[in-house]
Amino acid sequence: MVNQQYDPNLLPDMLPIYYTRHFPQKVFCRWLACGCSPHPLSNREMSFTLADDVYLRYLSINNQKELQDLLQKKCPHKLDIGAVYNTKPSVGRYDAVVLARELVFDIDLTDYDEVRTCCQEANVCEKCWLFMVIACEIIDKALKEDFGFQCILWVFSGRRGIHCWVSDYEARVLDSPGRGAVADYLCLITGGENQSKKVHFGSENLHTSIKRALTVIDNYFLQLLEEQEFFSTPEGLSGLLKLIPDETLKSQVGKKLDKLPQSSLERWTSFISIYEAYCRENGNAMRKLKYLIEEIKTQYCYPRLDVNVTTGFNHLLKSPFSIHPKTGKVSIVFKSSNIKNFKLDDVPTIYTLLDDMSPNSSLHQNNMKEAIKNFQEVVFLCEKTGAMRRRNNANTSIEF
Ligand SMILES: [Zn+2]
Repeated sequence: MVNQQYDPNLLPDMLPIYYTRHFPQKVFCRWLACGCSPHPLSNREMSFTLADDVYLRYLSINNQKELQDLLQKKCPHKLDIGAVYNTKPSVGRYDAVVLARELVFDIDLTDYDEVRTCCQEANVCEKCWLFMVIACEIIDKALKEDFGFQCILWVFSGRRGIHCWVSDYEARVLDSPGRGAVADYLCLITGGENQSKKVHFGSENLHTSIKRALTVIDNYFLQLLEEQEFFSTPEGLSGLLKLIPDETLKSQVGKKLDKLPQSSLERWTSFISIYEAYCRENGNAMRKLKYLIEEIKTQYCYPRLDVNVTTGFNHLLKSPFSIHPKTGKVSIVFKSSNIKNFKLDDVPTIYTLLDDMSPNSSLHQNNMKEAIKNFQEVVFLCEKTGAMRRRNNANTSIEF
């Protein structure tokens, strides 16, 4: 049913129509411009991936007319956005200096392969999409409440993940170490493949940010547990046991859970009661195990960020409203407050947008309109906060 007309060979014919009729060129240019401010739009790097994977970097535009011409002339199969330079990137590519860049986050379901059981690698379904819902809600709240950022754009990556662009001035001018610090702050899962327990909260009071993340996780944990059946297989169960640092408790849990039916929910509930009883009886074990339940929930549910994308000043990231060359899906902009209603099958594709006869056409057209409206809202907010910042700066300089 989904993508029934999907045929990548049609892309060269469809893309010019999509870019002219459906791609929100005007808002897009305004978004890029306020992300460049105070530098000109033409200092922003765009890159195109053409048919046959030809890759063009250091492109830039002065205005919407140039964007339209460039899109028609090159017909990019993929559109990426880079940094803002001190000069037009095409002119000074050898000595151009990066001046600004949105603070970006890339969250991809392939980084969840060690916890998701429904799909692996490039595959994705509504069940594992729940990991993205949790990730979006946690990161969005942290960016707003812990960092005070407002201009936050959330974009579907086109296949199996989400991107976040923070356009506040303070975020755009952060240097690489600053970006690294934000990424580190948001990363609670540490250690590579060979390390079983990747979350350690110690025994002091939990940081507000962690408590808030746990509140989000708790809204979805039982649903995720039942849908993913984290602990129903022998491997799943042994994965849980590996996270228990106390050998006596581990063996008690292992013996009991092995005898239970395979339901993850039942095993989890039983695990919690064994844990609680154990802590009551062993006061000194308590210190090491204080946040064990929270640590396990976090390890299974907390966002996995691609830290290199966030830290790199110059990392190119797929543009909003770009078409995913493999799925034909549009990288739509969504509201973080509405991510729980996000349905992968409802994402417009270039095929449904261009074919009025397709069964999903009207739904997808509406969702495209909604996505553009969401985009506009963020752009208006960026423009407004940018104007306020300039006014404040002007007032400050008058006072001096
Ligand atoms: Zn899945």
